[in-house]
Amino acid sequence: MSGKFDVIVVGAGPAGLTAAQQLANRGFKVLVVERGKKPGSKNVFGGRIYAHVLDKLYPEYVKEAPVERWVRRERITMMTEDSWTTIDFETIKTEHRSFTAYLTNFVEWLDKKAESAGAVVIPEIPIDSLIIRDGRVVGVRAGNDEVYGDVVVIAEGINRLVLERSELAPKLSPEIVALGVKEVIKLDRNAINERFGLDEDEGLAWVLAGYPTHYLPGGAFIYTNKEAITLGVVLYLSHGYQLDTPVHELVEEFRLHPLIKRLIKGGQLLEYSAHLTPVAGLNASPPNLYGNGYLVIGDAAGFLLHLGIIIRGVDFAMESGRVAAEAITKAHDVGKYDAETLSIYGKLLEESFVLRELRAFRNAHKVLIEPRLYSDYVRLINKVLARYFDVDGTPRRLGSTLLEAKGNVTLMDLARDAIRVVMNL
Ligand SMILES: Cc1cc2nc3c(=O)[nH]c(=O)nc-3n(C[C@H](O)[C@H](O)[C@H](O)COP(=O)(O)OP(=O)(O)OC[C@H]3O[C@@H](n4cnc5c(N)ncnc54)[C@H](O)[C@@H]3O)c2cc1C
Repeated sequence: MSGKFDVIVVGAGPAGLTAAQQLANRGFKVLVVERGKKPGSKNVFGGRIYAHVLDKLYPEYVKEAPVERWVRRERITMMTEDSWTTIDFETIKTEHRSFTAYLTNFVEWLDKKAESAGAVVIPEIPIDSLIIRDGRVVGVRAGNDEVYGDVVVIAEGINRLVLERSELAPKLSPEIVALGVKEVIKLDRNAINERFGLDEDEGLAWVLAGYPTHYLPGGAFIYTNKEAITLGVVLYLSHGYQLDTPVHELVEEFRLHPLIKRLIKGGQLLEYSAHLTPVAGLNASPPNLYGNGYLVIGDAAGFLLHLGIIIRGVDFAMESGRVAAEAITKAHDVGKYDAETLSIYGKLLEESFVLRELRAFRNAHKVLIEPRLYSDYVRLINKVLARYFDVDGTPRRLGSTLLEAKGNVTLMDLARDAIRVVMNL
């Protein structure tokens, strides 16, 4: 690896490859450096992709992208060891669609798009650090190799060691990240359709809270693919110290829960992976999203919207890649890549859904970190319904059943938390 490029992108994930494709399309000489064996090999996610961003970037994606199933059914479950309450939402038609996918396959597809636009993508090169001269980023270093560029786009994901080593981001603190562990379980297509109530090509996205994380902040997820399901558990690291079991065992316990066990009966475990994910919105952003000679995009910039029942990282990563490409094009027209000129990136982000949505939900993290949501309320709803439906000749009104079942939770807690959830999520 050597030479001089217009733009160097660190990381071939959805963010980096989108920026690379957009820039190469406009005639920039772009190098993408990826530490994994090939683009996609290091990317982990649950996975559902919200397609609104693809409609704009790749209108032909419906025919080309590795879509597994179109999500038509959503479930939210509050589960204890022995009971569970589920909200099951179905729709025949949605205006803006989402689909399940393997991120590995999706990233490979984005890689083809970037390479056919002219970007050079080199795998198996972990970048050690940025080359900084006179306060300006001028390139990247991997071992003894150095390569130079007018501007460096940092798209290394949430494990942002390049930014940390260059003192452009502080060390990750447990408050802003969660650990996700994921399994892929192969299952017959008809079994998936029957057990999850789906027709061909229809998908289910399912989040579950309570038991999967031992009632700590976080949750579990299940997505149906064509002939497999992905299933996993996400735990807020700020509460990891309270856990009485190693994190990797949580996913196994979840798989063996009576609700889940029967759904995946006969399935074969294909893959296991673990990855950090930002959960604190803009609180997870580095102090500066741009500076002299560089821009930060995707997870590395903290651009992930986590609302408990919705997790959106891929559409934010791709949109920030698109916006970065636009900002670099404008800076190129001015002929400078200093912080002042690149500040256009900040302005364009403000106009895009990235900052609009992250700002609108800026307090979501403070609400979602409340342990009562995953413990007391999960137990409460299941206890109330269990008592209500357990007829023994004693009159049980809903109100008195609730008062009986609420344990330590005060009505004030309930009212306050309900208002906070409604106002912030
Ligand atoms: C368990 C889990 C479930 C998730 N579920 C969903 C979901 O359902 N929907 C959704 O939209 N999002 C989901 N996400 C989030 C989503 O995966 C991320 O937001 C998205 O992948 C971010 O893209 P990115 O390009 O910024 O970073 P990444 O996808 O992390 O890519 C970064 C790339 O940079 C490379 N890299 C890192 N360091 C270096 C280096 N020093 N040198 C060279 N290359 C380097 C990495 O190998 C990687 O390929 C989930 C995440 C997790 C962990």
